[in-house]
Amino acid sequence: MQLELNEQQKMIQKMVKEFAEKEVAPIAAELDKKGEYPTKTLEKMAKLGFLGAIVPTEYGGAGLDTISYATIVEEISRKCASTGVITSVHNSLVCWPIIHYGTEEQKKKYLPILAKGEKIGAFAATEPNAGSDLGAMQTTAKLKSNKYIINGDKTFITSGSEAGIIIVFAVTDKSAGPKGISAFIVESDMKGFKVGSIFDKMGINANLVSELIFEDMEIPKENLLGKEGDGFKIALGALDGGRIGIAAQAVGIAQACLDESIEYSKQRQQFGRPIAKFQAIQWMIADMATSIEAARYLVYNAAYTKDKGEGRFSKEAAMAKLFASETAMDAAIKAVQIHGGYGYTKEYTVERLFRDAKITEIYEGTSEIQRLVISGSLLR
Ligand SMILES: Cc1cc2nc3c(=O)[nH]c(=O)nc-3n(C[C@H](O)[C@H](O)[C@H](O)COP(=O)(O)OP(=O)(O)OC[C@H]3O[C@@H](n4cnc5c(N)ncnc54)[C@H](O)[C@@H]3O)c2cc1C
Repeated sequence: MQLELNEQQKMIQKMVKEFAEKEVAPIAAELDKKGEYPTKTLEKMAKLGFLGAIVPTEYGGAGLDTISYATIVEEISRKCASTGVITSVHNSLVCWPIIHYGTEEQKKKYLPILAKGEKIGAFAATEPNAGSDLGAMQTTAKLKSNKYIINGDKTFITSGSEAGIIIVFAVTDKSAGPKGISAFIVESDMKGFKVGSIFDKMGINANLVSELIFEDMEIPKENLLGKEGDGFKIALGALDGGRIGIAAQAVGIAQACLDESIEYSKQRQQFGRPIAKFQAIQWMIADMATSIEAARYLVYNAAYTKDKGEGRFSKEAAMAKLFASETAMDAAIKAVQIHGGYGYTKEYTVERLFRDAKITEIYEGTSEIQRLVISGSLLR
């Protein structure tokens, strides 16, 4: 296990931290308030290589290791959790499946566009009746001469209304259960694709999350990703990496809760002294900092295990996501408490952090599903 960042990782962390402070922090509250997608920020991030962080250099990416990638998601999320999750989905759930399962033609066609941020990626697995149980999906893809015809509805899709390239999962053989699910690379300008409603959410409001509707959508046969029936395996593999991204997002949110709490508790005076002088506040700060450090090491451990390349890292990724997301929620509760009544108003950042933290316990597998993954790998 790697406990300390190497020189290159430290350099990337410094660069992204400076970028986030200068470009992400000043607009985060406003984007959240307006529910506005961070298009301009993503363009700037693409120029710095953040959108192609894990894409090999030969396809126009930065070719970074997973720890470096996790530091990017953490530092961006520390200032804006919406921009953080968009970055994570784009890299882990869209670039990764193409890198690992794409044909040479697919890699050459799609990876440079994604790495340059010319098109944003989305991952469309969830359906109204298939959330934790993705094997129950009903969207179908039928091969007709040299085209697949896709029909069905997806829901809760991050960047759904903004994405140009979408990894879509659909049933090609109903009788085969999860082994009858296939993955496709879909372009949003293909005929038969429609964006449905955009959700009015509790948090991460700058991440536009929508329904996607496929009505007799025709996609070329060569846009099948992997082989027919590989879809479930591709989705689970992508989600293992995605959970490292969401865990890093959660660490970023938790760290922001701590940053805000330290600053506020030194300033706010009650009973003639800063509230930081009260042991009750000190203990909350100490507990937050300790959990955040532990969560960050779990993220690094999962990232390190992934990069060792010795097979699945599902358990490590699930542990990182479970612990980091619960740390983020707990840190957000404490941060609002430390801010008292002001923390309950939209004037203070911790109010947004509180709303943003909750989703990390839900998407890319709820905490209950992470516990199933962890216990499943131990009780095999
Ligand atoms: C803001 C947002 C963004 C999202 N982005 C994407 C995206 O980009 N792409 C995408 O495909 N999906 C996305 N999702 C969907 C997300 O991954 C699902 O919401 C999540 O996996 C849970 O599914 P569900 O909402 O259907 O809940 P359900 O599966 O219905 O779960 C409801 C409750 O039951 C529990 N539960 C379910 N099964 C079990 C079990 N076996 N054991 C114990 N408890 C169980 C769950 O833990 C939860 O508490 C997003 C969701 C949101 C809210």
